[in-house]
Amino acid sequence: MKTVQLNYTQPDEMGFYGEFGGAYIPELLRPNIEELQAYFDEVATDQSFQQEFKQLLTDYVGRPTPLYLSAKMTKEFGCPVYLKREDLNHTGAHKINNAIGQILLAKKMGKTEIVAETGAGQHGVATATVCALMNMKCIVYMGEKDIERQAPNVQRMKYLGAEVVPATSGSKTLKDATNEAIRHWINHPTAYYLIGSVVGPHPYPEMVAYFQSIISKEIKMQLMEKTGSEFPTKVIACVGGGSNAAGAFFEFYDNEEVELYAIEAAGLGNDSGHSAATSILGTPGVLHGSLTLLMQDEYGQVTEPYSISAGLDYPGIGPLHAHTIVQGRTKSISITDEEALQAAKKLSSEEGIIPALESAHALAAIRKMQLSASDVVVINLSGRGDKDMKTYTDQM
Ligand SMILES: *Cc1c(COP(=O)(O)O)cnc(C)c1O
Repeated sequence: MKTVQLNYTQPDEMGFYGEFGGAYIPELLRPNIEELQAYFDEVATDQSFQQEFKQLLTDYVGRPTPLYLSAKMTKEFGCPVYLKREDLNHTGAHKINNAIGQILLAKKMGKTEIVAETGAGQHGVATATVCALMNMKCIVYMGEKDIERQAPNVQRMKYLGAEVVPATSGSKTLKDATNEAIRHWINHPTAYYLIGSVVGPHPYPEMVAYFQSIISKEIKMQLMEKTGSEFPTKVIACVGGGSNAAGAFFEFYDNEEVELYAIEAAGLGNDSGHSAATSILGTPGVLHGSLTLLMQDEYGQVTEPYSISAGLDYPGIGPLHAHTIVQGRTKSISITDEEALQAAKKLSSEEGIIPALESAHALAAIRKMQLSASDVVVINLSGRGDKDMKTYTDQM
């Protein structure tokens, strides 16, 4: 199998993946970013950091997560279909992998206060969890509207000891929570800003992708054991900001024979005005500290995304994904609310696995593909559906 070294995963010195990325931040935060970069460079080769990260992923998070061959999907699609079970992680999604990596980094930097934002609350819960573990003060910004929609996760964060601060500006959702978290960071430069996806100013996208790359490292080892080859032919993952996708794709970018599919939320349809499919509807612009594709109007005002899934309801995508999609290395597919709901129901009733609504978008996408018997498909099941039970039962 030919392997071309293309280095999609390595941004340049300024943090650019091709034309996307960088660090568009107020001067005041420049030293923070530089300090973070220096510590991040160090941990890549720091044995004791790597050891502690690995140990916590094993004993606290419960890794490796299984790579499960679905017999029913294999029969239906005529080729092996594997589910990477990130839903089985502690706290119920892939977000904890990155939260563990960054809290260890914050500890190494001598930080004692963590600030984060959250949409559906999954990243907030993961952050509150690792802050409890490491005795750190935790402040989570969350849109007022999301606080209402995601009450169980708000309760979890508070019970874990975090302070949840409502973001009351704009649409009162994730992008507003992010703006307010960044504002908090500017006013409290000694705090550590723990970003939950492959977004934000350099080095965050690179760092989050690195911490999540454990997903594809495990897929390779598990596939080797099960099939005798490390490489699937297709990897499918949903994209909000893109951290579970970056983690699931990471080890495969440089092998062009592995097709990578980034699945975006089309909401009520890409022509409906109610969608979150950034790679289709977005244009280049600066969002939350990086130059990337984002949904904006002719005046550069961010347009309101829509998806039934709070985790995919974001107007941008990480610069790594913007770059690889524009280059054609990654293909994007849009999945509507309705298609995701059907896929969630099917997995629940046929496999006994209730997926997160976000992950259901990735599951639905396999139906849009031309498959042959020689395909080996891996779908990243980014999280479990407990948080979505109200939406699911309202649809019954
Ligand atoms: C947050 C979340 C997502 C979207 O975030 P990415 O950074 O794109 O991975 C997807 N699935 C689940 C279960 C989530 O909690």
